Amino acid sequence: MSKLAELKKRLTTVWDLRSTSSLLNWDMQTYMPPQGSGPRAQQLATIDRLAHEILTAKDTAGLLDDAQKELNGAAEDSDEACLIKVARRHYERGANVPAELVEEFSKTCSLAHDAWVEAKQSSDFPLFAPHLEKIWGLARQIADARGFQGHPYDALLDEWEPGATAAEVRAMFDEMRPRLVTLVKKIRESGKNLDASPLHQRFDVERQTAFARYLAEEIGYDFQRGRQDVSAHPFCTSFSAHDVRITVRYFERYLSPSLFGTLHEAGHALYEQGSPPQFNHTPLRGGASLGIHESQSRWYENLVGRSRPFWRRYFPKLAGFFPEQLHGYTAEQFYRAINRVEPSLIRVEADEVTYNLHIMIRFELELEIMEGKLAIKDVPEAWNDRYSEYLGVSVPNDGAGCLQDIHWSAGILGYFPTYSIGNVVASQFWEAMLEEIPNVDELIQSGQFKPILGWLVDNVHSRAKKYLPKELVQKVTGESINCRAFLDYLESKFGELYGL
Ligand code: ZN
Repeated sequence: MSKLAELKKRLTTVWDLRSTSSLLNWDMQTYMPPQGSGPRAQQLATIDRLAHEILTAKDTAGLLDDAQKELNGAAEDSDEACLIKVARRHYERGANVPAELVEEFSKTCSLAHDAWVEAKQSSDFPLFAPHLEKIWGLARQIADARGFQGHPYDALLDEWEPGATAAEVRAMFDEMRPRLVTLVKKIRESGKNLDASPLHQRFDVERQTAFARYLAEEIGYDFQRGRQDVSAHPFCTSFSAHDVRITVRYFERYLSPSLFGTLHEAGHALYEQGSPPQFNHTPLRGGASLGIHESQSRWYENLVGRSRPFWRRYFPKLAGFFPEQLHGYTAEQFYRAINRVEPSLIRVEADEVTYNLHIMIRFELELEIMEGKLAIKDVPEAWNDRYSEYLGVSVPNDGAGCLQDIHWSAGILGYFPTYSIGNVVASQFWEAMLEEIPNVDELIQSGQFKPILGWLVDNVHSRAKKYLPKELVQKVTGESINCRAFLDYLESKFGELYGL
C-alpha cells in the first residue's frame, strides 16, 4: 500500500470516529432520556480519545511526510495536496498539546460549567470567577504549547478560524466600530419605532413546525439527506454530506425564533449538503471555518430571510398558516416588524445592526484578559462600561451581563470573532454574486432559489475545507476579508427603514 493510501485509511478511521461522536452528541441534545447523560459523557470521551490517539500516533508525522513525497509535485490546490495540508494542521494542533493539559482543561471546564449555570441563575459573578481564572490560565498554556507567531490569542482563534489573527480581527473591528456606533445613534435619534407586535401573538407550535419545514425546503434543504428536530439550543450537525441535521426551537408567543432559527440552521446545512461526496470520511469535508459557516447561515437568515422580496412572497403564505393572527397586516408591516433595531443586553436576541457590537465587546475583553491587562475580578465592570459606551444600555446584573454566554465556561475561547467574520463575509459574497446574478431580488420574490444556491455551491460549498478562509474569500471576491460591503448594506437597508 502506498503511504498516501495508508494515510487516507488512518484519516478515514479518525473522521468516522468523529462523525460517530457527533451523532451521539446530536442524540444527547434531542432524544436521549435525562438519565442517559452520565454514561453518554463517558462514551463520548472514549470515542474522542480514540480518535485523538489514532491521529497523533507516533508515526503519523512520518506518514504525512512520506505521503507528501508521493504527490510528486501535484498542484498545490489538488484534493490530495489539500488533504495532507489540512490533516497536518489537525495533527500538529493535537500533537503539540500534552495529553495531561488537555485533560485538565476538560475537567476544569466541566466544573466551571456547573458553577456558571448556578452563577448565571443567581447573578453571582464571584461564584464563577475562580473557575474563569483557571480556564484562562490553562488556555494561555495551551496557546503556548500550540505555538503562535504574533499574539497568543492567535493560537486560540486558529482552532475555529484557521489562519486568522487577532491583529486582523482588531483591524476589522476598528473599521467597523465608528460607523456602527454612529448608525445605532442615528436610529435612536430618529425617534422612529418599528412595530414588532405582529410577531408577539399566540402561534400554534405544530403550525410553526410545518411552516419552518416548508421554508427550509423552499430554500433548497434536502430532507432526503436531512431532518429537523427540536432542541433547547438550535444547531446544525452532519455526519456526511448525505446526513445533515438541523434543530429548531419554538416559542408559542414569539414567532421569530422558529422562522429565523430555521433559515439560519438551514443555511449551515446547505453548506454541509453541498460538500463534495468524495470528501466524506476525510478532514476536507464541511465548512472552511466557523466564520465561513456563519456567512452561510447569516446569508439565509438575514440577506435573504430579512429582505423585502422574501416576505413579499412568503408573508401571504405565512398568513395562510396563521390567518387569525396575521389578517389585517401587510407584507410591508411584517418586513418592518422583523427588522426592528433595539440596542439590548443579550447577544443572541440582537438585531443585525447591534449584533456585532456585542461581539466586539467580548473580543476586546478576551484580548485584555489574555494580555494580563484585565483581571478576572474586574470583568463585570469592564463589561458594563462597554455596554453603556457602545450600546447605550445599562446592565442591571451579571446574569444579563458577563455571565450570559456559555462559551467561556465551556472553554470555548477566541471563538466570538467568528460570528462577526461570518456577517461581513456574507455581504462580501453577496456583492460578488450580484455581479453574476443581478436580478436576485426578482428570483427571491418568485421563490427561485436554485440559481442562488447554485452560485454558493460553485463558489463556496464545493471547495469545502480545501482553503483557508482568507484564501477562499480572496478567490471568490478578489478581496481580503473586510467589513465595507457589510456596513454599506446595513446603512442602506436601515437608512431606508428609519428614514435617515
Ligand atoms: Zn450559526
